[in-house]
Amino acid sequence: NPLKLSGFGGLKWYRPLELQHLLELKLKYPDAKLLVGNSEVGIEMRLKRMQYQVLISVTHVPELNVLSVKDDGLEIGAAVRLTELLKTFRKLVNERPADETSSCKAFIEQLKWFAGTQIKNVASVGGNICTASPISDLNPLWMASRAKFQIIDSKGNIRMALAEDFFLGYRKVNMASDEILLSIFLPWTRRFEFVKEFKQAHRREDDIAIVNAGMRVYLEEKGVELIVLDASIAYGGVAPLSISASKTKEFIIGKNWTQELLQSALKILQTDIVIKEDAPGGMVEFRRSLTLSFFFKFFLWVSHQMD
Ligand code: FAD
Repeated sequence: NPLKLSGFGGLKWYRPLELQHLLELKLKYPDAKLLVGNSEVGIEMRLKRMQYQVLISVTHVPELNVLSVKDDGLEIGAAVRLTELLKTFRKLVNERPADETSSCKAFIEQLKWFAGTQIKNVASVGGNICTASPISDLNPLWMASRAKFQIIDSKGNIRMALAEDFFLGYRKVNMASDEILLSIFLPWTRRFEFVKEFKQAHRREDDIAIVNAGMRVYLEEKGVELIVLDASIAYGGVAPLSISASKTKEFIIGKNWTQELLQSALKILQTDIVIKEDAPGGMVEFRRSLTLSFFFKFFLWVSHQMD
């Protein structure tokens, strides 16, 4: 049944069962917080003392829970839990041609070092994306893997946004107050297209990243040369939002995948991702060197795949 509970101080908690009902609630209460795992909102309310008057639990809306395998990729409902996503990726890696699942493998690796089992069992994909934490472990990977977000407004209009263009500022995303995230579309990778995850934290298990990243390169064999047809380089933990190293990306596209490309790209990367001396989070030197070493590791890893 749909539920509506009222609490102390006028707090309202809804649990709609249909998308239409959810959209009506979002129109009526544009400032309402959506909940799935409550692993972000719970902390905001209890530890940061933030007050929300209207909470809408979206766990029971079928459209937000889809996991649908398409010809060109995977559609993932925004309320899908991380454990469920991990299981699906593992199954797909076994079933589909290896060329198609480079992104899936990167997500599997990143999810291994994401929180603990209890959090992953309840935390959702959409909750992570929409919180837009500058240190989200998954957002740089959505950006790198050419994912698209399906966004629906209260009238039911649907639009697509590229993950790469979705994050606008500190916890700010390209979504209006009457819009919600419906689903994520993750395209399959192609032959000679490689996606890799990176995360450096103080501790390997259950720790927040110092710097993380998602990188992708799409190569073409031309005689003895390997030409970069397309690429993405996205970082977390180096700015108030997950960001693309766009100058470096533009520089490597069209070039031959060689040691010279690596050396020049590392130089450009230093002007592309700039962490100021007084940047929040400290450890500036360390974060600068992580930014470079992730790209260095990516270069070696891709070259090894092509051997
Ligand atoms: P909720 O708290 O339920 O919701 C979060 C926000 O998303 C709310 O503002 C809500 O309004 C919005 N939202 C949810 N769904 C939608 C939608 N469909 N459309 C629009 N807005 C929506 N994060 C990492 O990246 N890496 C980690 O290693 C990590 N470890 C953690 C460890 C612990 C102990 C904890 C408590 C958190 C950790 N997190 C980590 C952060 C958090 O768990 C994730 O961001 C999680 O995916 C949030 O999902 P949720 O369903 O719990 O979000």
